Amino acid sequence: MLLDLDTFKELNDALGHQAGDRLLEQMGPRLEASGTGADIVARLGGDEFALLLPLGADEAEAIAAADNLGHALNSPFMLNGLGIHVEASVGIAVAPRHASDAEGLLRRADIAMYKAKAARTGHAVYTAGQEEQSRDRVVLAADLRRALSEGEILLHFQPKADMQTGEVVGVEALVRWAHPERGLVSPAEFVPFAEQTELIHPLTERVLDLALAQSARWRQEGLELRMAVNISVANLLDARLPDLVQALLARHGVPAPGLQLEITESVVMADPVRAMDVLARVGELGVGLSLDDFGTGYSSLSHLKRLPVQELKIDRSFVMNLADDGNDAAIVRSAVDLARNLGLRVVAEGVETAEAWQALTDMGCELAQGYYLNRPVAAGQLTQWLARRSAAEILERT
Ligand code: C2E
Ligand code: MG
Ligand code: MG
Repeated sequence: MLLDLDTFKELNDALGHQAGDRLLEQMGPRLEASGTGADIVARLGGDEFALLLPLGADEAEAIAAADNLGHALNSPFMLNGLGIHVEASVGIAVAPRHASDAEGLLRRADIAMYKAKAARTGHAVYTAGQEEQSRDRVVLAADLRRALSEGEILLHFQPKADMQTGEVVGVEALVRWAHPERGLVSPAEFVPFAEQTELIHPLTERVLDLALAQSARWRQEGLELRMAVNISVANLLDARLPDLVQALLARHGVPAPGLQLEITESVVMADPVRAMDVLARVGELGVGLSLDDFGTGYSSLSHLKRLPVQELKIDRSFVMNLADDGNDAAIVRSAVDLARNLGLRVVAEGVETAEAWQALTDMGCELAQGYYLNRPVAAGQLTQWLARRSAAEILERT
C-alpha cells in the first residue's frame, strides 16, 4: 500500500515546515499502531509512506487494512497547539496478481493512489489497464497542448431565442477540437480531462479569446448578440480570471454586458469563499453570469440565493422529455417559477420539439436554446442562418 497525505503542502504553507516535520514524525508511529499487521512501514520521501502487508491474494483484506489506516488518521494531530485533521489517499497493489516484485508493486500502488486522490475515495485498488490509461493521459495531455498551439481549438455557436418574439438575443460558444486524425472532437471527450490538469486555464483563455473575437466581428456587422462562454470550476477558483476577462474585453473592444459566463452549481461546493470572491469581481466588471445545468447539482436553495447570477438555465435532461414525462414537466415548471420569483431570467436548454417549445411558452419561460431552433454551428453558418430566418417564423411553426 502506498499512502500519500492529501493536503501536506497546504499544511506546510499554513503552519510552517517545522510543524510539517512534526506531523511526519507522528505519522510513522500512527501507521505502525493502526492494526494493519504490516511487516514494513516505511517513509519513501516527502509525505509518501509505503506499507508491506503479508496478506493473502484476496484484495478484500487489503481494503480492510486501508480502512484501518483511515481510522488511524481520524483523531487529530497536535501541531502548534492545534488539533489538525489529516487525510490521506491509499493505493493498493496485490502480489502476485498485479506484480510480483517490489518495483512493479510500488509502481502500480502509485497509479492506484493517484486514482484514489482524483476520485477522493480514500483508497483504490489497482486495476489492470490503468497503466495504459495513465499512458493515454500523458499522450492526451501532449496532444491537447499541441492543439492549443496549432490552432486546432475552435468554437461552434448555438442561438438562444426570446420565446415571446422569436428573436435571437444571444449565442452560446461551445468548444470543439478539430483533431487531425479524429475529426471534430466533442468537449465531453477533453474538457473533463483538461479540468483535471492545468490545461483548463489555457483552454478557457483560448475559448474566451475566440468568442470575443467573433463577438466583435458580429458587432461590426450590426449583430449585437450576447456571447455566453462556459467556465469551469477551476477557472472560478483562479484569482486571475477577472483580470483576464477585463483584458480580453478591452483587446476586442466588446462591452462587458456583451459577455456572459455560464457557471455550474458545483462551484459553490468546491470553495465557496474563493469562488464567490472571483464571481463578485467578474460581476463588478458588468459581465453577466448564468447558472448552467440547473437541477443536476447538489447545491441548496440557500446557496442559489447567494449566487450573483442573473440567469438560470434549466438542464436539458429535464427539458428534452418535457412533453412525455409528467415529472420532468413538474420540475421544469417549478424551476421556471423559482427563477421568476428570484428575479432571474430563465432559459430552457435542449428544446428539441414544437411541443416542448409550446409547453415552455405556456409555463412562462423566457428564452429557449436547442435543436428545435438550431444546432451549434460554425460562426459563418450561423450568420447565414440568421440572415435567412425571420423571427416570427418559429412562432408560426409552433
Ligand atoms: P452545456 O453548457 O450545457 O451546453 C449545452 C450542450 O447541449 C451542448 O453540448 C449542446 O450541443 C447540447 N444541446 C443543445 N441543444 C440541444 C438539444 O436540443 N438536444 C440535445 N440533446 N442537446 C442539445 P456540447 O457542445 O457537446 O457541450 C457539452 C458540454 O461541454 C457543455 O454543456 C459544457 O458543459 C461543456 N463545454 C462546452 N464548451 C465548453 C468550454 O468552452 N469550456 C468549458 N469549460 N466547458 C465547455
Ligand atoms: Mg453552457
Ligand atoms: Mg447546460
